[in-house]
Amino acid sequence: MAGLARTVLGDVDPSGWGVTLVHEHLVVDWGELQGKPKLRFGFEEGVGRIVERLAAARADGVGGLGECTPIGTGRYADVMVEASRRSGVAIVGATGFFHEGWTPMHPLAKALDVDALTDVYVREITEGMGATTVRAGLIKCATGEGSIPVAEEKLLRATACAHRATNAPIVAHITESMEKEQLDIFESEGVDPSAVCISHVGSGERWQERLLGALRRGANVSVDMITYDFAPDEERIGVVRVAADAGFAGQVMLAHDALVLQSGPEQMFGIGPSDFGYIPRVFVPRLIAAGVDAAAAWAMVRENAQRFLARF
Ligand SMILES: [Zn+2]
Repeated sequence: MAGLARTVLGDVDPSGWGVTLVHEHLVVDWGELQGKPKLRFGFEEGVGRIVERLAAARADGVGGLGECTPIGTGRYADVMVEASRRSGVAIVGATGFFHEGWTPMHPLAKALDVDALTDVYVREITEGMGATTVRAGLIKCATGEGSIPVAEEKLLRATACAHRATNAPIVAHITESMEKEQLDIFESEGVDPSAVCISHVGSGERWQERLLGALRRGANVSVDMITYDFAPDEERIGVVRVAADAGFAGQVMLAHDALVLQSGPEQMFGIGPSDFGYIPRVFVPRLIAAGVDAAAAWAMVRENAQRFLARF
């Protein structure tokens, strides 16, 4: 690997991790954005449940994951540290804020300008997330649908500036589309698209054309939501195949976007059983059976994801 991945336990060469999932969550707590966390778990019980899921994934070959929860939505650095120590799964935490479509935007995201937001991100990557000394190893950003409002554009520009200062990889959430507009903003700020992973690709109008457009610009994509009930494997395999058949397998990563603990009703988004081992155990073999080259399919959850994270 050219560099190291910045995990919650320190900087590590990820090449020994085995299966590496770029976009997962341990905890999502939307209530935290209203200043009122809603999780009904104590620390030990919560960590215990997470470790159970991670240990099961470890048995399926998973050695590392990107924990892409943004600031104020259940991103608990101490939980990540403890879960990583006990399970042996390396965890890369995120700095960055979510979009304003689904929840009120975080007060800091609303109040700060691009420079001040950049300072927050850089500090979280170089010193520690929130009030901890646990450093973030990726920048999460997100947009809603239809257009990119001023507040979200500000976050994308801060993401770009913090990336330029630290080289941290960028994991971008699209709700359905807007990846082109995200990449336009990143490129206007001097970001090489190879530092970006567009998450949640493969849905909405003209998704094939839009997917290939992002790949041609050099961006990585994550085909994720694997195990969600509205994203059956056959459909997700079809998304991978569009990218792979066009020669872009080296820019594809796979993830479940699963989570273990969440506030609000269980199955809020029809999310599956937080099975972080499903991709190596079931999905990759299905991908290969569907005609994707075996070495290329395994690279999507090994080298491609490891290379993307190893930027420090
Ligand atoms: Zn996610």
